[in-house]
Amino acid sequence: MGLNPIVRVEHLRKVYRVGKEKVVALNDVNIGIMPGEVCCIVGASGSGKSTLLNQLAGLEKPTRGKVYIGKHEISAMTENELAKFRQAHLGFIFQSYNLLQNLTAVENVAMPLMFKGVGRKERTKLAMAQLKRMGLAKRANHKPTEMSGGQQQRVGIARAFVLKPRVIFADEPTGNLDTKTTRQVLYSMLEMAKENGTTFVMVTHEKDLAGCADRIITIQDGNVLSDIVVDDATKAKNRAAMFEGIATNSVPDEPVEAQADNASKA
Ligand code: ADP
Ligand code: MG
Repeated sequence: MGLNPIVRVEHLRKVYRVGKEKVVALNDVNIGIMPGEVCCIVGASGSGKSTLLNQLAGLEKPTRGKVYIGKHEISAMTENELAKFRQAHLGFIFQSYNLLQNLTAVENVAMPLMFKGVGRKERTKLAMAQLKRMGLAKRANHKPTEMSGGQQQRVGIARAFVLKPRVIFADEPTGNLDTKTTRQVLYSMLEMAKENGTTFVMVTHEKDLAGCADRIITIQDGNVLSDIVVDDATKAKNRAAMFEGIATNSVPDEPVEAQADNASKA
């Protein structure tokens, strides 16, 4: 791991205005996340986790303070510069999936590759491989409305990883999955992050998930309550418990017929 943080935040403050009210979502946050780290951001509902993640990924502008990715101060970039920078270097897994409704799963995953200028054949191949890893090979030609919430969530994960970005930010990426699938998906995400050398920053409210991280940052009322680097022995113990019985680095494919949790089939 390098000596300098890849994600660095200095005196970050974010105030929202709601009518005449001011909501201090982030007060004065200072953090550094090292290259290749898996970092979990935890804290009570409303503590500022999503706000922090949005600032780190350059999706919103801070009220005060600075955000750096590597040597780039993203808090000082114009919207145009930011859009380009995000496309080239960052991935984001949204809580609300943000899939394009008119596109199939494979087209959604291939989209970032299209923006990067990868040809049709190659991007379909890469997107299929990524979907396969998320156990969705048989769902490749389904549109979001033809998939369950958990399946859409995994399409969103596949889309974030397909470009092998330097940093992936994820807001409760397993929030819609059952316990067994959560474990397998988390395992696959950690493996992919390791393979690609991607720094992975994830908001979660699940303690056992956070226990698998290299670093755990706890947010309380818009401030950092604690910032802990988990020691190797604890991490190994937590991961062994979390990933017990998981044998493959991709999510097992589910046959389309055996699908019980399907919301609506068009
Ligand atoms: P968490 O993700 O930890 O649940 P959030 O970052 O979403 O918390 O929210 C932190 C605080 O900021 C909450 O009080 C929330 O109501 C407020 N907040 C978040 N986004 C907005 C917004 N767009 N406008 C106004 N207030 C917001
Ligand atoms: Mg949130």
